[in-house]
Amino acid sequence: MKIDLHVHSTYSDGIHPPRKLVEMAIGLGLAAISITDHDCLDGTEECATAAYQNGLEVISGVELSCEFKERDLHVLGYGVDPDDQRLQGMLKRFRDTRLERGFKIIEKLRSLGVHLDTEEVLAKSRDGALGRPHIAKALLENGYVDNYSEAFERYIGEDGPAYIKKYKLHPREAVSYIRSAGGLAFIAHPTNSLKDANELLELIAIGFDGLEVAHPNQTEGERAELEAIAKDYDLLASGGSDYHGFAGKDIPMGVPEIPYEFLERIKQRLG
Ligand code: AMP
Ligand code: ZN
Ligand code: FE
Ligand code: FE
Repeated sequence: MKIDLHVHSTYSDGIHPPRKLVEMAIGLGLAAISITDHDCLDGTEECATAAYQNGLEVISGVELSCEFKERDLHVLGYGVDPDDQRLQGMLKRFRDTRLERGFKIIEKLRSLGVHLDTEEVLAKSRDGALGRPHIAKALLENGYVDNYSEAFERYIGEDGPAYIKKYKLHPREAVSYIRSAGGLAFIAHPTNSLKDANELLELIAIGFDGLEVAHPNQTEGERAELEAIAKDYDLLASGGSDYHGFAGKDIPMGVPEIPYEFLERIKQRLG
């Protein structure tokens, strides 16, 4: 039995709604999935309803934007109560500040002679967290750039003239919010964000429950190393495709292969 514990929906920057992701997972023969939208839990209920009707298992998930050592770090939360007030309050702050930031980026673009319609950009993120991918799409569709990457290179990438930082948590806060909502906190794709094993150990000491040992950006060798570290520190393992549905760029759902055993252990620890 295979599973996928890292999938994005239209409630963040994925292109498919939760219902469609559930259908796809069933088509691929997966036993369970988790929708882990960026800073948003709103897709969870729709996913759970669709999955229940179709006999697919789901575990609630979220991917929180954090900063650690001045770099982006993503923290995954599994098994959180989607109605937890403290967590929802924090997610609302994420959403509000993302909206303000989106408006500021559109303003900056305007001062550079690039005129995007705010409503049009908002419509692209109708379900959830407004982000640079939505603005990149609008730039592309309005002919300001020739392709998606160019939007980041010329305008909204970290070194671009219209870039604005977004609100991020310290990993310690992320762990706290996830735990107090009854969930378990995992370091997402550790090799993306961390320089070396020392940084990883420093982060683990904050109080994480697990590591995402398998992700398309990680080699087989890295997976083995991460699995060994997880074992040494009595941490859980998770993994998934980080599927967004981006044409031509994404690894499909269900890749790399994740054993059901990962979820079994997570559920055991959740109690
Ligand atoms: P945001 O959370 O609004 O800052 O947007 C971050 C997202 O933008 C990432 O998850 C990527 O999907 C996308 N992104 C960031 N930088 C680039 C880039 N240079 N090229 C393509 N996509 C990017
Ligand atoms: Zn994403
Ligand atoms: Fe991520
Ligand atoms: Fe992700």
